[in-house]
Amino acid sequence: MDKTALAAQLQSLLSRPVLIDSPMAKHTTWKIGGPADLMIFPTSEDELCAVLPLLQEQQINWLVVGNGSNLLVADRGIRGVVIAMGANFAASQWRGRTVKAASGMLLAALALEAAERGAAGLEFARGIPGSVGGAVRMNAGAYGSNIGDYVTKIDGVDYQGQRQSLAADELSFAYRDSSLFSQELVVTYVHLQLREGDRETIMTQMKTYQQKRFLSQPLEYPSCGSVFRNPPNDHAGRLVEMAGLRGLKIGGAQISPKHGNFIVNLGGARASDVLELIREAQRQVFDYSGVRLETEVKMVGEFE
Ligand SMILES: Cc1cc2nc3c(=O)[nH]c(=O)nc-3n(C[C@H](O)[C@H](O)[C@H](O)COP(=O)(O)OP(=O)(O)OC[C@H]3O[C@@H](n4cnc5c(N)ncnc54)[C@H](O)[C@@H]3O)c2cc1C
Repeated sequence: MDKTALAAQLQSLLSRPVLIDSPMAKHTTWKIGGPADLMIFPTSEDELCAVLPLLQEQQINWLVVGNGSNLLVADRGIRGVVIAMGANFAASQWRGRTVKAASGMLLAALALEAAERGAAGLEFARGIPGSVGGAVRMNAGAYGSNIGDYVTKIDGVDYQGQRQSLAADELSFAYRDSSLFSQELVVTYVHLQLREGDRETIMTQMKTYQQKRFLSQPLEYPSCGSVFRNPPNDHAGRLVEMAGLRGLKIGGAQISPKHGNFIVNLGGARASDVLELIREAQRQVFDYSGVRLETEVKMVGEFE
């Protein structure tokens, strides 16, 4: 792939600058990850409709990212084009308790808007640092609620540049999972139906959840939140702690002494440090309890 030539072609279709070799560490909450060959920031569905067929035609790999809060990007980075759906694609249109939110909007910002309008349901989401698009693909959730409980429909653009809409029952929401993982679709808008609620009650509930997070999670360090999926009827963090792994360090990465399911970047951590800690935790938890921990975080890019 001739990066400069492709960057020029893409630039002619886009209003925001195309980045060449931008370190993904700048675009992930873990602050880890090598360079993306090219990175683009679409501002409309029309731009996506123009760009995706070009990438398809030239057989260029692409990956869509939101706020990078659930990604472990390889130290060698990402070959191909990263499509970043962020602040350039972030707006909401409310009608009563229903909202159409652009996928780059931060979920926490949407939750706050909902609270201010007395629309209940997203109290759980105030402390989740993802975009609306990433949240829907992951079916992000906490405290017994998931975003999928409130989604009625999503809009997106497929790899051929065609607009698509999928109803909630086509999205197969499950624990940190949705059918969007098996589709080459960039989610552009998410439609949600919330409940009628009371502004003050919603705000109070959000504060309670936020306090719980501050007390139990190492929010002072870069991380990706929970690294492992919780196995049925148990907590991955509990298993990691029972295996005696709290505080284990490799390079700049550490299994948080505060929460066994968080791996934090103490400074200068590499993806390879995190990966080693993940493998060590999987090995030791299996030896200790017979449970095979699976990762919730998505590993992307050029791992060996
Ligand atoms: C401190 C902290 C706390 C967290 N707490 C929680 C929690 O309580 N509950 C929870 O569920 N998660 C939690 N997370 C994890 C993370 O915030 C969520 O998984 C979030 O939904 C990821 O959104 P994102 O925009 O950052 O997605 P990214 O990390 O950018 O991407 C995640 C996946 O979604 C895909 N994706 C992103 N945007 C789009 C799009 N527009 N169209 C199609 N696919 C897309 C990506 O390709 C990737 O496969 C936490 C993370 C941190 C750092």
